[in-house]
Amino acid sequence: MQFLEFARICEHLEGISGRLDLIEQVSTVLPGLDDEELPIFVRFIMGRIFPDWSPKKLGVGPNLLYDAVAYVVGTKRSVVREAINAIGDAGLAIEDLLANKEQTSFFVQEMDLLEVYQDFERVAAAEGARSQREKLLLVRKLFANARPLEGRYLARLMLGELRIGMGEGNVRDAIARAFDIDVRLIEHAQGAMNDLGEVALLARRDPVALSQVTIEPFRPVKMMLAQAGTIAAQIEDHGEVAVEYKYDGSRFQFHKVGDLCRIYSRRLEEVTGSLPDIVMHLGKATDHDVILDGEVVAVQDGRPMPFQYVIRRFRRKHQVNAMMEKIEVVPRVFDILYLDGETLMDRPLIERRRILEEVLDDAHIAPQFLVRDAASAEAIYTEALDLGHEGVMVKVPSSPYTPGVRGRLWVKVKPGVETLDLAVIGAEWGEGRRAKMFGSFLLAVQDQGRLLPVGKVATGITDEVLADLYALLKDSVIARSGKEVTLEPKVVFEVGYSEIQASPNYESGYALRFPRFVGVREDKGVDEVETLDALVERYRQQNIRQGSGSPAP
Ligand code: AMP
Repeated sequence: MQFLEFARICEHLEGISGRLDLIEQVSTVLPGLDDEELPIFVRFIMGRIFPDWSPKKLGVGPNLLYDAVAYVVGTKRSVVREAINAIGDAGLAIEDLLANKEQTSFFVQEMDLLEVYQDFERVAAAEGARSQREKLLLVRKLFANARPLEGRYLARLMLGELRIGMGEGNVRDAIARAFDIDVRLIEHAQGAMNDLGEVALLARRDPVALSQVTIEPFRPVKMMLAQAGTIAAQIEDHGEVAVEYKYDGSRFQFHKVGDLCRIYSRRLEEVTGSLPDIVMHLGKATDHDVILDGEVVAVQDGRPMPFQYVIRRFRRKHQVNAMMEKIEVVPRVFDILYLDGETLMDRPLIERRRILEEVLDDAHIAPQFLVRDAASAEAIYTEALDLGHEGVMVKVPSSPYTPGVRGRLWVKVKPGVETLDLAVIGAEWGEGRRAKMFGSFLLAVQDQGRLLPVGKVATGITDEVLADLYALLKDSVIARSGKEVTLEPKVVFEVGYSEIQASPNYESGYALRFPRFVGVREDKGVDEVETLDALVERYRQQNIRQGSGSPAP
């Protein structure tokens, strides 16, 4: 497939708002792609370039991208920025710029999907001192060969947001439809393979194999996630529940084959080098090949330390030893996904737990209590808080491990305000002494690959934190308009609120009342922020609690 055709498909999809229509359209394209193109198309259409398990990253920020475009159209970066600011969308502005240039250039070389992907691979592979220059040359070459419409989608792909509404769920449905396969099989295979591109290929080649896919060590799978809930409701729904402490640390996945150990963060980045003490603890704790799931916790004098300490260890790349002396971390393992070649994902939690206890040294296993009555569970909750933990996790004993799913099979219970994890997609310059920083931030939920605004947060942030946030976000500015800037969505905020309201002011249809900044979720990626569906569910629950029957808009 030519990249131009891909761009035309994207343009067509951009004009469609109905989910079913989108799925239908994509499903008709998939069968016509060859084996090399299919996985690439599937990832591209979601706005992703590499498989989710892959550590590869493009490493191209807005500035480098604008420099490349400026060079190709024969202008300065500032002109590119101005064009983007005027339109408010990098893709459309770059398309315009290329259209103006096109009148003067004679020749563009056709690019097909595979070639563009291979160029992206080269961009990602550029490392070391001269990497920025190398990346720049490659990105220039891509734009030099791009027709205006191709430029729109090249830019958006590189910025990580295609804006056509094909999220993972829709693509999964499109694959199922294209190859006439039960969507649950696709979902299952995706859980283990963590790359819908490869799943699509398998769906076409050997649908039977989809039910037999196994997890491969050193290809991290997405972490299973939890919904907020209550002990009482979970017991009422399931009878018996498995209660564990909810540690205030950072999630990790530990892979071991023979003597080789690797650790992945919640965002599936490899962090082995930062956590030699965890490798030391767990490497010796089992003779088996395993994939374990757990939380890294910082401790001091036997008491857990807050999450911020742990995250500093995860981020540390240099002088790890010095940091190790300052912050001691220990693993708390609560699940096992793989043992000696066998994938355990589909086994019930209690069985996985039994296996975990058989193969791993007890010292590293997080305690688990099976209870049937709310009073016992409440007692464990109180004990967890007394011990300095965040609360408890209440899990369904018969549940499989569902990678990446934030369902009710795991429910988190913790005291305090309700918070949401939201993507930061824009900001506004501050005033007075805050004039050189951003003073408020525009936040968004995700909905099938789109980020939809739900409100702004300006409260709860000290000047010192504002300065840090400015340093964190200043290079992500995509466009400016008056006092407002659009940001490349990269950072996740945890935000407290008093109430969710239906609101026509924001594209999501909802707004937060009294939003308050709680912190940056450095362990979370933008693809993990609250979904619109979950927000609507919270809104519904809130209205039930408040006794008002107003329906979702
Ligand atoms: P949250 O980040 O608030 O959505 O809460 C879910 C997170 O709690 C998980 O991703 C883990 O990092 C963490 N966690 C702490 N203790 C446990 C536990 N016993 N089981 C599962 N997750 C846990």
